Amino acid sequence: MTHTKHENHDHQHGPDCGHKSFVHGDHIDYVHDGHIHREHDGHWDECEPTEHRVHENHDHQHGPHCGHEAVRHGDHVDYIHDGHRHALHEGHWDEH
Ligand SMILES: [Zn+2]
Ligand SMILES: [Zn+2]
Ligand SMILES: [Zn+2]
Ligand SMILES: [Zn+2]
Ligand SMILES: [Zn+2]
Ligand SMILES: [Zn+2]
Ligand SMILES: [Zn+2]
Ligand SMILES: [Zn+2]
Repeated sequence: MTHTKHENHDHQHGPDCGHKSFVHGDHIDYVHDGHIHREHDGHWDECEPTEHRVHENHDHQHGPHCGHEAVRHGDHVDYIHDGHRHALHEGHWDEH
């Protein structure tokens, strides 16, 4: 993931902050107005992929009724899938 610091982020995310949160790998992501934020050394970063990573052999098709939680991420939707975030991209699923 890139290290894109969210500047002037006054809000402190936490268990009771009111934003949706979920486990993403070894940390917690918070859904914040179409962005996904994670804590890093006392500030908040955008949790974004640095490169194009395809999830190989992803047989499952995410959708509105697939049972996974969906969160808006910029101009697309991420699905929360076993500690990963997956987004549809040209007929395959990317890690986000
Ligand atoms: Zn929050
Ligand atoms: Zn935030
Ligand atoms: Zn940072
Ligand atoms: Zn994350
Ligand atoms: Zn799904
Ligand atoms: Zn995404
Ligand atoms: Zn998936
Ligand atoms: Zn892709």
